Amino acid sequence: SAPLSDADPDIYKVLGRELERQRDEIELIASENYVSRAVIEAAGSVLTNKYAEGYPGKRYYGGCHEVDVAEELAIARAKQLFGCDFANVQPHSGSQANQGVFLAVLKPGDTILGMGIDMGGHLTHGAAPNQSGKWFNAIHYGVRREDSTIDYEQVERLAKEHKPKLIIAGGSAYARQFDFKRFREIADEVGALLLVDMAHFAGLVAGGQHPSPFPHAHFATTTTHKTLRGPRGAIILTNDADLAKKVNSAIFPGLQGGPLMHIIAAKAVAFGEALKPEFKQYAKAVVDNAKALGASLKEGGVDLVSGGTDNHLLLVDLRPKGLTGKAVEAALGHAHITVNKNGVPYDTEKPTITSGIRVGSPAGTTRGFGVAEFSKIGGLIVDVLEGLKTGGDAATKAQEKVKAEALALCERFPIYPGIKA
Ligand code: PLP
Repeated sequence: SAPLSDADPDIYKVLGRELERQRDEIELIASENYVSRAVIEAAGSVLTNKYAEGYPGKRYYGGCHEVDVAEELAIARAKQLFGCDFANVQPHSGSQANQGVFLAVLKPGDTILGMGIDMGGHLTHGAAPNQSGKWFNAIHYGVRREDSTIDYEQVERLAKEHKPKLIIAGGSAYARQFDFKRFREIADEVGALLLVDMAHFAGLVAGGQHPSPFPHAHFATTTTHKTLRGPRGAIILTNDADLAKKVNSAIFPGLQGGPLMHIIAAKAVAFGEALKPEFKQYAKAVVDNAKALGASLKEGGVDLVSGGTDNHLLLVDLRPKGLTGKAVEAALGHAHITVNKNGVPYDTEKPTITSGIRVGSPAGTTRGFGVAEFSKIGGLIVDVLEGLKTGGDAATKAQEKVKAEALALCERFPIYPGIKA
């Protein structure tokens, strides 16, 4: 059949323009990354044609011998990477991985305790508009006003008061480490199970730059496309054989039908990459670079929630500058620096406006930016913020100047060299 350029020029052009966008913008969205050509090749392969309901060796379809090899490899590598006894590599997304755990051990109406979305938690941790918030009695813990770090006394108090069946440790905008041991002690006190959602920092765990959820967690879930640098998707891990069985039944046939075998093959490729020694260096650089970015932002008088970072992300509090996340996201976008607006703890702005931005180092680090480049990027962000504060011409001028510098930086660190846009 015809190549995409002939078969569907409209979509072909989208792909080309998106590649150019990725090449020409400094990507600071903390949940994004650039996968390898090998991962793209597996994800864009004939494995997309295959139905394989079930699990390796126990499928409901014929012709699964090759995809079985891919899934077995993905499972074995995930187990090795995170040092655990069981992995389900079929969840289509992080949200479905969490739903898989919920379906495995909860019933509608049960109580769960997770970090509030307004405090840095994820939608699927019991937020009101999400299924987790609609079907469960969701109780939320948060961070302290004084230092924006988790208030473990509050977690314990809420656990004792509400007796959740499941406690979730993890979030999407928390720049510090979760104390897994403390969470487990609290879970044990009230007879709850502990789920660590390490979607954001799994790559740092794999690369030895962040404590592992095990042996403390009953389950860990993670997306595969953030710091872990694989295709979009997720996995569920546990060391408990009984829970493992429940997880498998929850994902299939509980929640999903046919697994995405091309994505599972791509997960296997990414896990193989993460097992290599170079990935340890990558993970270390991600943390060093996030700290460098934080230091240069602070030097420029920018406020950071919790004062800095232990991982790959930073949450910038724009309130002292009198700016909103929405305005800053747009201004930085004009300057070819991509970020997302993000609520800060105790934010009074609406989620569509917010008082913060979230920035991270995983994608830039993959591109080859080091401490020098991330320090420079911090300075560029400060220039845009100062321009916005002054307003009018000064704002446009700052954005134009930073855009030129961002483009020059991107050109020095090309992504996907040799691939035609
Ligand atoms: N869990 C956490 C902590 C996340 O940050 C995210 C994504 O941002 C998810 C789960 C959900 O992943 P997905 O977007 O693949 O559904």
